[in-house]
Amino acid sequence: MSESGPPSVLSNPMAAERQYREQIVRYGRMLHERGFVAATDGNLSVRLRENHILSTPTCMSKGEMRPSDLVVVDMEGRLVSGKRKVSSEIGMHLLIYRLRPDIQGIVHAHPPTATGFAAAGVPLNQPLVCEVVIGLGSIPLAKYGTPGTTELTEALEPLVPGFDAILMSNHGVVAYGADLEQAYMKMETVEHFARIALVTHQLGHQKPLGEADLEKLVLARAKYMNGAQADAHGQDSGNGQGRKKAAAERQPLEDFPRRRV
Ligand SMILES: [Zn+2]
Repeated sequence: MSESGPPSVLSNPMAAERQYREQIVRYGRMLHERGFVAATDGNLSVRLRENHILSTPTCMSKGEMRPSDLVVVDMEGRLVSGKRKVSSEIGMHLLIYRLRPDIQGIVHAHPPTATGFAAAGVPLNQPLVCEVVIGLGSIPLAKYGTPGTTELTEALEPLVPGFDAILMSNHGVVAYGADLEQAYMKMETVEHFARIALVTHQLGHQKPLGEADLEKLVLARAKYMNGAQADAHGQDSGNGQGRKKAAAERQPLEDFPRRRV
């Protein structure tokens, strides 16, 4: 969490919730301004405390929200507080929070280029850009599932443990992180990478990184992730080369998932 981030939920839950509400409004506006959503598309959420999720409501432009428009739901998706209705896509958020205790923020949007790949049935899993491999790994494509149904959560379920951003067939993208800022940044990275990948398609040629270079990046990614995890737990990040290598070895090079699936 950055220094400007919300205070601890434990030390000051009211102040933390107020700041999380403002954060959701801010990133929602950014999604809208960048054209990552149209009309009332998309949703954002933050894990508020153990059993409560703060989320955007249904039927609202992400560019027009106020902090008081947000809703709090429990882990079954039932409304705990708020005047508006819960989004039908809340099930996707709850699935991710259930499967990934490390995740505190989720962003779902329909950015046009990445969603174009998802509609063409093409995953973004080619190692074309070194920074994307280090920061995000590969971006897989989940099977299609009707929004708001268990079909959609069942399609995502096998991919959630191993990846931090997923293309959803004929639908959009979901990205998640240790806080909402990270989740949003991952969404931006996915769309930016999709634009680059599209240019390679237009040029008619792709030259993915070779296995040796990819292996170095996977090691660097393991180091980066170990550091991030240690930081998140307020511990010393010196885990030793052996452990970093072991973490990298658990990650198959063909899809560089975040961790063992
Ligand atoms: Zn959607």
